[in-house]
Amino acid sequence: MDITDQLMLRLPEYLNSQGIHLDSNGFALCPLHDDKKSKSFHLITSSGSKIWHCFGCGQSGSIFTLANQLEGLPMKGAEFHEITLPTLAKRMGLKYVPKAISQADSNKGQLRELFNFIRKELVIDERVQKFAENRALPENILKRFGIGRVTDYVQLKRKLSRNFGDDILKKAAVLHDELFVDRILFTLFDDFGSPIGFAGRIDVDTPETPRAKYVNSITNPFYDKSKHLYNMHFAKKFDDVFVVEGQIDTLRLVISGMQNVVAVGGSALTDDHIRQLAKFKKITLALDGDAAGLTKMDKIRERLKNSTCILIPDGMDPDSYVRNYGVDSFKRLDELDDLSWQIVRDEYYQPAKSAEGYVQKIADSSPIYHTDYLRRLAKASGVEYFRLKDGLNAILNERAWDKFNTIMKSKDKIGSLSVQVSLNKQE
Ligand SMILES: [Zn+2]
Repeated sequence: MDITDQLMLRLPEYLNSQGIHLDSNGFALCPLHDDKKSKSFHLITSSGSKIWHCFGCGQSGSIFTLANQLEGLPMKGAEFHEITLPTLAKRMGLKYVPKAISQADSNKGQLRELFNFIRKELVIDERVQKFAENRALPENILKRFGIGRVTDYVQLKRKLSRNFGDDILKKAAVLHDELFVDRILFTLFDDFGSPIGFAGRIDVDTPETPRAKYVNSITNPFYDKSKHLYNMHFAKKFDDVFVVEGQIDTLRLVISGMQNVVAVGGSALTDDHIRQLAKFKKITLALDGDAAGLTKMDKIRERLKNSTCILIPDGMDPDSYVRNYGVDSFKRLDELDDLSWQIVRDEYYQPAKSAEGYVQKIADSSPIYHTDYLRRLAKASGVEYFRLKDGLNAILNERAWDKFNTIMKSKDKIGSLSVQVSLNKQE
């Protein structure tokens, strides 16, 4: 039996090591969603193998998928052999000697280990707890997504230098005072779930010494801000994806049971981002309704024909909307068709533009959408709904008259025949 098979059998021990305690029926609270009391996480033993399944969030897998989700241990490639197998084997008291690896792979492996190391150094102290409480983020989410704080940066620097050497620290560009001091850190993962950097945000306002609200890791061999999409390692398993602005938006939807969410983050949208989104069959954009968000959505819509936008009412973001109205209501929000999107976008950029042009366009569309369009236009333009409706009716009446006249003219030519036919019908 090789080490992978041996570890597969150690799932119960692994659960214990993560504080997941099964009851006598093999059920526990699920660590992957906000499972407060239903115990929907279940251990399944079949033909000598052990897997888990959650009836709440629908996820399932082996010890490796769980270790990936809870601790970010890589599931694929060289990293799986270099990091995941030795880490788990050591913890379970199993012997495992990794295969000899090339120098390049070993450097890469070391970098991975370095980011893993920092991730484990992140502490959930009172400040993080307060931050999480204000944003309604449960502790299992903090752990799963590697969210915490470096409480002693000087000490961390010493540890890193001792364990990895200054050369590799330089290469990985990890030492970044502005990022690590006094910030809540969000671990950034690559597509396989390995930590590759951090995003830091200020948790308390200090007006006397203004600092950037958000700071990310410096570009390193694995991480590049202009390419990275937050939560891609979970979302990539799905055919369709929701694109949101920030990490908290992502986490709110994940907690609510949606895994297929990625965040662009505060950075500009690049071709690399769009290329990654192009892999999905359907893309729903739920970015902020401000100028930056609209520009991003416009760019994606233009390039990816299978993308649609949803408009969150009252300038809310997905986080505040879901907290107020629930995730089901979020899923039911209207997707904007082309004309609605134009109305929303243009009215934002050109608030003084007359609504008249749009009423003409609305007149061209199918009557079943008229009310929707008019409502949207009324909101966007500030012109009263009934005035817009009168305008639309006037255009439609005019068109009806034109049509009627055209028909009458052609009827004149065929003369009494058509009149006779319609008279016959009435009898
Ligand atoms: Zn679950």
